[in-house]
Amino acid sequence: MDVKRGSFPQMNEPIISLAGLTKSYGNLCAVCDLSLEINRGEIFGFLGANGAGKTTTMRMLCGLARPTTGRATIEGADVWQKRRALRVKFGYMAQKFSLYPDLTVLENLRFFAGAYRVPRRKMEARIERLLAQMDLQAKRNTAAGSLSGGMRQLLALGCALVHEPPLLFLDEPTSGLDPVHRQQMWDLLYDLSHNGITIFVTTHYMDEAERCTEVGFLHEGRLLAKASPRTLKGTFKAKLLELDVKPAMDALVRLREAPGILGVSLRSGSLRIYAPEAETLLADWQRRWPFPEISLLAERWAEPDMEDVFTAYSQGYDAMLNKDAIR
Ligand code: ATP
Repeated sequence: MDVKRGSFPQMNEPIISLAGLTKSYGNLCAVCDLSLEINRGEIFGFLGANGAGKTTTMRMLCGLARPTTGRATIEGADVWQKRRALRVKFGYMAQKFSLYPDLTVLENLRFFAGAYRVPRRKMEARIERLLAQMDLQAKRNTAAGSLSGGMRQLLALGCALVHEPPLLFLDEPTSGLDPVHRQQMWDLLYDLSHNGITIFVTTHYMDEAERCTEVGFLHEGRLLAKASPRTLKGTFKAKLLELDVKPAMDALVRLREAPGILGVSLRSGSLRIYAPEAETLLADWQRRWPFPEISLLAERWAEPDMEDVFTAYSQGYDAMLNKDAIR
């Protein structure tokens, strides 16, 4: 990549700004009154359940869907009004296969380079660099439709980068990839970020949320929180209790219905208890364990991870959170 961190005027100035951005389909508010800023150089992770509005937001930012109300800008330019001029500013990797399956790897890269008007004298060298970066040299003459899922995702990323944009929109770039290819994709994203590219990425994987510099939680079209993973974890004010119990599945069902418990999740065979007063609960259980059919084998306090934090925000476990810390 030619773009270097140092070539940017200010790392902490917003490259993307959303102000009351809204998209409605009939009565459905797919994205509701979304306001946030993303600074240059961030890896911004956009998290939400299926249907939360992540793709709709990204499509508006890419000028592919017109906002119903509100506005968004990239480098100060309105994403809808200036959509044609803005196309060169970003690369977009859509969730669905966006390549031409009958064209080879090389032909796909050349096609996208042509569409983005990459000068001919620069095109071949740039494509060779991308082939090396994506580890696709040996596949240059293979039809895109015959590539494995992981290789296709890498080629799609290469095509999104062929015009060397300062900003990348990636819609679930690792969905369906095995752990090795997921790691390879993230290594590439870190390289790109290191070279000064701002990355806006949607994901369902909570371990990927940990790798982002900033994370936004979207729920039913609304932004629940936006901060760094460390800050978000810091807003988890309740203690998180983990239990080893037997039989675990019976315990999961019983504990979910127990008073004082907001939710329970199964993690590597142990149960995580979401309860605002977990210490009181544990003290009561140590005096008298109320589930004779379930054996309590061990208990410990756990550090909340992004999955716990996302669960608490999206399920509305507000009594466990100190939301004022990120306002
Ligand atoms: P996923 O993780 O499943 O990709 P998402 O968070 O990206 O979900 P969106 O695809 O943005 O969610 O969808 C948000 C809501 O808007 C959903 O209820 C969806 O059905 C609805 N929606 C999206 N596009 C349209 C459309 N063109 N017409 C009508 N409804 C739509």
